[in-house]
Amino acid sequence: METPGNALGEEIEFAAGKGTYTENEVVRASLCGSKDIDEKKRTISIKPCFATAENIKVGQRAYAVIDSVGETHAMMTIFDYEKEHGGKRVNFVSDFAMMRIEGVKSFGVFMKNMSEAVRVGDIVKVEVSKIERGGIDVIMKGKELGVVKAFCSSCRRPLVLNKDNKLFCQNCNRTEARKIASSYIEVML
Ligand SMILES: [Zn+2]
Repeated sequence: METPGNALGEEIEFAAGKGTYTENEVVRASLCGSKDIDEKKRTISIKPCFATAENIKVGQRAYAVIDSVGETHAMMTIFDYEKEHGGKRVNFVSDFAMMRIEGVKSFGVFMKNMSEAVRVGDIVKVEVSKIERGGIDVIMKGKELGVVKAFCSSCRRPLVLNKDNKLFCQNCNRTEARKIASSYIEVML
């Protein structure tokens, strides 16, 4: 496997194809992937090894950061997949995913507004529910899935889970609502 910066060949022999660049007459990889030489066209290119949605299966669990929250949708960037569901990936390409409000259930109850479940910047554990060319859909149902780390909406400090199972900001002395995952405390990030 090639990683960005690896020398792939001399520019005198091969032209730089997709996923490559030239530097001092040497063709180098700009992506992580396998070297692909086209002898007829005399080009070298890189086939990306972590192409979005290619290595991912429905049912895989993943960790993501929430990028935006609307009333009925949340958008996120997946940065890791759980080991037992296909192995930890080194993410040169992160995957973007969408979660709909119908995919969020807490204690058997559907949420009315996505902001009751997640907020921007939260780290969540989700499950891949659908893979399409356009992207990945995820859900957050059951006690294992949900927010694993949340930050205060006011001061951005990490929220701690208190005895009443509520997320508390020690700085602002207030609680916030989320759809909390059972692994909230265990996960150290
Ligand atoms: Zn705070």
